[in-house]
Amino acid sequence: MSGPGGAQEVRADAPDPLYDRLTAYAGRPAATAGTGKDPVNAPMIRHWCEAMGDASPAYRGPDAVAPPTMLQSWTMGGLTGHPHGTGRSAAYDELLRLLDGAGYTSVVATDCEQEYLRPLRPGDLITFDAVIESVSPRKTTKLGTGHFVTTRMDVRANGEPAGTHRFRILKYRPARRNPPLRPRPVINRDNAGFWAGVAEHRLLIQRCTGCATLRFPWLPGCNACAGQEWDTVEAGGGGTVFSHVVMHHPSFPAFDPSGEGGPYAVALIELAEGVRIVGNVIGVPYDKVRVGLPVRLEFLRTDPELELPVFRASEGG
Ligand code: ZN
Repeated sequence: MSGPGGAQEVRADAPDPLYDRLTAYAGRPAATAGTGKDPVNAPMIRHWCEAMGDASPAYRGPDAVAPPTMLQSWTMGGLTGHPHGTGRSAAYDELLRLLDGAGYTSVVATDCEQEYLRPLRPGDLITFDAVIESVSPRKTTKLGTGHFVTTRMDVRANGEPAGTHRFRILKYRPARRNPPLRPRPVINRDNAGFWAGVAEHRLLIQRCTGCATLRFPWLPGCNACAGQEWDTVEAGGGGTVFSHVVMHHPSFPAFDPSGEGGPYAVALIELAEGVRIVGNVIGVPYDKVRVGLPVRLEFLRTDPELELPVFRASEGG
């Protein structure tokens, strides 16, 4: 399908030479000769039942069996090993590289499916193999276009077939989204003069004509003498970081200079004129922003409709 602005999308009926290469991997091993880290055992069964809130008497006592849905847990490699226990096969790695190379660089697990052939009991020794069962034709989903890859793990207990575990992933090219935009400033009668200045690349500070006190942000009256009359002075552009925070969560790509949604620094800048203004610090990594860092005013066009004052670090940080 090809929608407006979707030049990168592929038509569902377009020929797909990659597909023939992908299907050649069906039937090849995904993992071989895996061994469970521990035999089936009562403590793991008890922890699983507690976590799941499953109080079935079938999983307790001298005749206990393991909950069937624990099947995959006996094959897991632990935190320092691959989830398939012995590591992926060369064929599976090759298949993923082929998909990466074709631009299907993102991955999401979509579903799993289990069959139980024999109950597992404490003391059973677990072995397993996994095979690449199928690779789907190219599909377009909400996430993007890609191929589903299904692996099937055959689990044995003391050498006897005990169950199968099918696991499906989608390797896909993320759908293009419109670039994220920053929230629009609220412009009203009290601050319109400030934004008019920004449009001319001037950072204007209000000055009370009664007592000459500078104020920022813009306000209708003077906090020092309550005077209502004011004019403006243009900031020279020099300042220092008075205080700052680094935003990690939630991710907001519009604020990250890389557009990735990574961390970014928000600073309270003390201008040379003495007033303070909140803005982004640019020109240094977010973790190099520090109190006292000298900065210089710049205007950044964040998108076609918005320009903002930002502050460039004038040293290496
Ligand atoms: Zn005043």
